[in-house]
Amino acid sequence: MIHSHGYAAQQSTTPLASFRFTRRDPKEHDVAIEIEFCGVCHSDIHSTRNEWGNAVYPMVPGHEIIGRVTAVGSGVSRFKVGQRVGVGVIIDSCRKCASCKNNEEQYCEVGTTLTYGMPDKYGDLTQGGYSNNIVVEEHFVHSVSTKIDPAGVAPLLCAGITTYSPLRHWKVGPGKKVGIVGLGGLGHMGLKFAHSFGAHVVQFTTSESKIEDAKRLGADEVVISKNAAAMKKEANSFDFILDTVSAVHDLNNYLPLLKRDAVYCQVGLPDQPPVIQMGNLLFKRRALAGSIIGGMAETQEMLDYCADHNIVSDIEIIPIQKINEAFERMLKSDVKYRFVIDMASLKEQ
Ligand code: NAP
Ligand code: ZN
Ligand code: ZN
Repeated sequence: MIHSHGYAAQQSTTPLASFRFTRRDPKEHDVAIEIEFCGVCHSDIHSTRNEWGNAVYPMVPGHEIIGRVTAVGSGVSRFKVGQRVGVGVIIDSCRKCASCKNNEEQYCEVGTTLTYGMPDKYGDLTQGGYSNNIVVEEHFVHSVSTKIDPAGVAPLLCAGITTYSPLRHWKVGPGKKVGIVGLGGLGHMGLKFAHSFGAHVVQFTTSESKIEDAKRLGADEVVISKNAAAMKKEANSFDFILDTVSAVHDLNNYLPLLKRDAVYCQVGLPDQPPVIQMGNLLFKRRALAGSIIGGMAETQEMLDYCADHNIVSDIEIIPIQKINEAFERMLKSDVKYRFVIDMASLKEQ
């Protein structure tokens, strides 16, 4: 067994605190990784506080993992000791169903194994990246270029792929007007990608203080979503809108902004369902869609795209000891634009 040290929630109402546990020794197809950095996703808050109602404790969150390979099983061919690698939101799937065969493991019909908070095929509870090490099957490990800053790459493993995948799927590019709703961890990556793909990008935000940043990150226009007149001006004009908001908000303010036949894609996952005025869909044959992370091949494609185009997340590095404070700041939309934990800080414990 491998000894691990991380920060865990012991129940939904307690802050994260130091926690020691064990992981399996690497098996034939496993890669053992020493974690250098882990991004802080809003899903880590939803999960540790049991906002989705399926939490299992103790829970070490974290699914934006960057580290170095420390050992590989005898059947591993893609990775060597010392190599820099990344791990995202899922660490297993059936690999046999139609989705898995189509390189869309995130939609596995049997069900995926999340990086933390659920039993794996060995019966162990998975524990995530707010820790010093992890053991993951090769298929779910990504190679990461050493050309770009590893701390800035960590958020690509969730915030990056979650926005890259739907923007690619719905063919966002030149000549398209695209909206990104919410300028947080996911939102700022969605903005960077949509801009990089050549679309005309409009950032929707509730935070006036983020207007200049949105422009710097690639927005052609910024709309304060609380301003009804500014929203009305945008009616019937969008080809695609990507909604990254973590809290309940009124989608009926945004759906009328889509053109006929255009798609509103939800990636944010608030804990309560939305109320939709059906007329906002019917009268212009608009579609409301959803998307979750991306497949392993597409995640690697996204990482390579980012290395080639010098795209990383805008981050604020924190020691693990500040994680509870970071959660509170995220709940106030006060993060620019992703917290990343420097795992070296665990050694100070
Ligand atoms: P985040 O960094 O906290 O950003 C969320 C942003 O939403 C905030 O910065 C804020 O942007 C906006 N916002 C917050 N409260 C709002 C409200 N009441 N009304 C309107 N806007 C509000 O969160 P994140 O890590 O990007 O995650 C966003 C959501 O995506 C979470 O629900 C998370 O669980 C989910 N998620 C889904 C997937 C997937 O695969 N589909 C993957 C990862 C995360 P402004 O200040 O600009 O308004
Ligand atoms: Zn995430
Ligand atoms: Zn499958």
